[in-house]
Amino acid sequence: MDHQLFFYGGLDTVGGVHILFGHGETGILFDAGIAHSGLFRAPFIHVNDPIQPLKNSEIRQLLLSRMAPPILELYKPDALRGLQKENIQSLWNQSSFPTFKKLYVFVSHIHQDHMALLPYLDQQVTVVMHESSYLIYQALIKANYYPDTHANIITFTDQEMVELDNFQLQGLEVDHNVLGSSGFIIRTDEHAFAFTADWRMHGPHPEKMDKFIQTCQQAEIDLLITETTMVNKASLFQKQVPASESLVLENFSKIVSKSDGLVYLMALPLDVERTANLLYIAKQSNREVVMDEKIACFWSHVTKDRNELFHPELAATIHVLTSQKNEIDLPYTPITIEEIVLEKDKYVVDLSFSSLPFLIEFERIGDRSIQSNFIHADAPIDRNIVMKWLEDLEIEYHNISNGGHATHQAITHFIEQVKPKKVIPVHGRFPFLLNSKSIPKIHPSISESISLKTLSNKVHHEIY
Ligand SMILES: [Zn+2]
Ligand SMILES: [Zn+2]
Repeated sequence: MDHQLFFYGGLDTVGGVHILFGHGETGILFDAGIAHSGLFRAPFIHVNDPIQPLKNSEIRQLLLSRMAPPILELYKPDALRGLQKENIQSLWNQSSFPTFKKLYVFVSHIHQDHMALLPYLDQQVTVVMHESSYLIYQALIKANYYPDTHANIITFTDQEMVELDNFQLQGLEVDHNVLGSSGFIIRTDEHAFAFTADWRMHGPHPEKMDKFIQTCQQAEIDLLITETTMVNKASLFQKQVPASESLVLENFSKIVSKSDGLVYLMALPLDVERTANLLYIAKQSNREVVMDEKIACFWSHVTKDRNELFHPELAATIHVLTSQKNEIDLPYTPITIEEIVLEKDKYVVDLSFSSLPFLIEFERIGDRSIQSNFIHADAPIDRNIVMKWLEDLEIEYHNISNGGHATHQAITHFIEQVKPKKVIPVHGRFPFLLNSKSIPKIHPSISESISLKTLSNKVHHEIY
């Protein structure tokens, strides 16, 4: 059982990657989220009323639906409520699961499909994440999106080496649409392998990806594990050309400056850098930003004392949407719908999925002669539902998204540059369609284990 990788999820789904690496008595799981489009959806910013596991049965239901990895030592015993290995072994066609004295969990970034299991982890488990991911997670806890975790947390900064008993993990920043996104290189005495969850080349920080590639080249890695969200049949023949970040910002600026009425924004607040830029552009267009209370709470916590993320002067242009002015405990001025509709050309209203009903009040009160604009920028919304609202209220829709995931062509190029001996494509619906040029691909099956020792020779798959 030395140098083994065990595959429990995310092999043909978007998110929910659950790979366990074991070396000696130490194991590390990466990542700890739940897949999109499974039976359950995690509670999250901009997701309206998903079917969630029932309270106090969460981890039992996630384990019994195979949406959580079957290593019971990862979870708080009280959350398992007596659930035994025997209850889940048959679901995975296994007679046993690997056990480790010390268990670590790597969280690549704070998107539900990479971190939704954090609240159920046991205090014996140590979670490793980028320091900015921890900042985002804490702000989400404060804004009531997620419960805290009992696990021990250690944070890293870019390129930092973290000693994990039997091996070493080097945290490496990647570019994705949430602050703190990272991958890693794990080095043992004999091997080195790299993992990156979600990443892109067209975002504002391609230099992070260049550094990731360089570090992998120096480490001469045996294996690369990468996401393949954008790999599909069409991508084999059509070049995918996502907008650059500067084009996203330019489009936002154009729509805001042309608009005479209210502008609604639905963007991902976790993309702290973009949100800060959008707020700056709004100010330049003489608009003030109104946030719903949950977004304002998240935003105030994530930017508190972090002037490098968000200039404190801009905080003066933020309002919190409220019906009762005195009850707000946030560093922004409260504002009511009645006040906003008096000057519809003065505001950008930042909404989340659950605050969409405010649209009715904004649209049906005050001057109704000027059309409002709704700008959607990479918030994971259910588009059909939103379009129904916008059509009914006659609001113009603009999508300025550019997506957080690498194009198929970018993934192929990335693999060629990293030059691993083998590549395992994960986190996508069609990983087998990936064009990896001369680098051989491995497609493990669920429950399968692969030994790193076999990577330099012939690929060895072991199903038991
Ligand atoms: Zn993901
Ligand atoms: Zn992501």
